[in-house]
Amino acid sequence: MFLSQLNLEQREAAIASLGSESFDVLVIGGGVNGVGAALDAASRGLKVALIESQDIAAGTSSRSSKLIHGGLRYLEQYDFKLVREALHERELLVSTLCPHLVKPVGFLFPLTEKFKERTYVGAGLALYDALRGFQRALPWHKHLSQKQINEIAPSLRPDIIMGAIKYFDAQVDDARHTLSVARTAARHGAIIATRVSAESLIREGKRIVGVNAKDLVAGKSIAIKATVTVMCAGIWSDELHAKFDLTAGYHVTMSKGVHIVLPGSAIKSDAGIILKTPVSVLFIIPWGDKWIVGTTDTPYTGNRAEPFASREDVAYIVDQANRVLTPKIKVDEIIGVYAGLRPLVANNKSSATTKLSREHTVDRPAPGFVSIAGGKYTTYRIMGRDVIDLAVNELRKLTPESVTDKLPLVGADGYFALMQQVDQIALQSGLDVETITHLLNRYGSMISEILTLIENNPSLSAKLSRDLPYIKAEIYYAASHEGARTVDDVISRRTRIAFEAGNHGVELADSIGEIIAPVLGWSTKDRKASVAAYESLVNREKEALHELLSSSEGEKVSS
Ligand SMILES: Cc1cc2nc3c(=O)[nH]c(=O)nc-3n(C[C@H](O)[C@H](O)[C@H](O)COP(=O)(O)OP(=O)(O)OC[C@H]3O[C@@H](n4cnc5c(N)ncnc54)[C@H](O)[C@@H]3O)c2cc1C
Repeated sequence: MFLSQLNLEQREAAIASLGSESFDVLVIGGGVNGVGAALDAASRGLKVALIESQDIAAGTSSRSSKLIHGGLRYLEQYDFKLVREALHERELLVSTLCPHLVKPVGFLFPLTEKFKERTYVGAGLALYDALRGFQRALPWHKHLSQKQINEIAPSLRPDIIMGAIKYFDAQVDDARHTLSVARTAARHGAIIATRVSAESLIREGKRIVGVNAKDLVAGKSIAIKATVTVMCAGIWSDELHAKFDLTAGYHVTMSKGVHIVLPGSAIKSDAGIILKTPVSVLFIIPWGDKWIVGTTDTPYTGNRAEPFASREDVAYIVDQANRVLTPKIKVDEIIGVYAGLRPLVANNKSSATTKLSREHTVDRPAPGFVSIAGGKYTTYRIMGRDVIDLAVNELRKLTPESVTDKLPLVGADGYFALMQQVDQIALQSGLDVETITHLLNRYGSMISEILTLIENNPSLSAKLSRDLPYIKAEIYYAASHEGARTVDDVISRRTRIAFEAGNHGVELADSIGEIIAPVLGWSTKDRKASVAAYESLVNREKEALHELLSSSEGEKVSS
């Protein structure tokens, strides 16, 4: 058995292994698909390493709508296979793989007309519910009258909303889930190293036999030997194909999607809301005591590592939501904003090695090198399985089938029982029931590690800030067990303070720096530099928004 802990010592050992050992599989990219592939391979008994140039989930995998869903809009395109596959994954995640992280969420599909629309949407949702098969972790959809809708969602305009259909999907903290997959892969022996960038390929004739990488912390080069390299680089795929001088079977273009975050008080509804927009759909999603509203869909060609929302993006979201909301939401109510880049995959017709499905593409542009891109968060496990199925052909040895459908993530064991024992755990630990519930829904059974930190240092039981649910032990744990190495890692991905607190959480950066400094062995100078780096990132984000969120005349951007 291996440890799932990611921290300074573990990274040091990982860097040493990368340079001295030889791997069956080397994964490039620590987004959900990369960590999913690493877990798939490690749990088949293969020797696996994963390198990520930034932080786990720093790319698209921390910037999604955070829905684990079948994708209602694919039904309209008659893509039943795709919807069924995603719904199957949804049921598996909610019930078995990580019930502590993936939670059911109800959505209202508002109807503006009494009969025809209800029949059409009702038939679609019945099909949506039926396609999941016999696994039934989530309730069946339900028709609601106008009177019921007024009670459930008083914020929906009664003058145009004639009723609704309530259906269920699921939601997840994407960055936390990706981290949990990475930790599960580590527990099954995968070597995980963040801030290590793939720079070029090691070739023996036509065969790729590894990667020349750079440890971005020490500035040193590492030659990593692997029988097969698996690239899961999302929106970086084209860039890396060019850098590696590979002719790939597909191209990845980028589309930007923005979300805004509002306080709970901005919208009165007991459920999420889905709206059809002229180009796609808009989700109003409950997020703790807040709302996440999005998204947009615009072509993007800028800096991949720093996609920022613009004034126009925010105005579009506010306008679309306000078509059905009363009172209207106002720009000056917005607490946070985030942007992400969708990897959109287009097949290169000339390539014979590319297997294109509607959602994701696997490719083998050279012997010893395979890649995958596209798809959606929900189907990461299938993507990990598919790319490793292709990769194992390169190993020339018998390799077992994927077992990830039977492999709960770290923290999942005993979760349902622990949720029944909240009162006892609260009593024993001296923490309140609300905090224990919060911790169980973020760490599952790994809550014991957080409680041990508190036993050793009771001051860590204090809240980080009055308005947020996080306690100081979680911040410490982010660096001691979850591989956080900067203030940004903690604010943006281990917690979601970057969009949950006003001003991107900048006011908390100092306190966070102070908590993680001893774990990371920081001097005062290191700590200040990490805080300053976060402030500088926030300044760039604010510049892109033209100070929109601090503007008191917010409503004027909305047409
Ligand atoms: C706005 C938006 C909303 C979405 N909503 C949903 C949703 O609700 N539900 C859903 O199912 N899906 C959703 N998606 C899709 C989903 O988020 C993505 O499909 C998924 O996160 C992609 O994961 P990935 O691992 O392929 O890419 P990424 O998460 O981008 O990972 C790629 C990684 O590769 C690393 N990398 C790049 N170059 C190198 C290098 N040289 N060396 C080492 N590492 C490198 C990057 O740093 C990055 O971490 C959404 C996407 C967007 C943009």
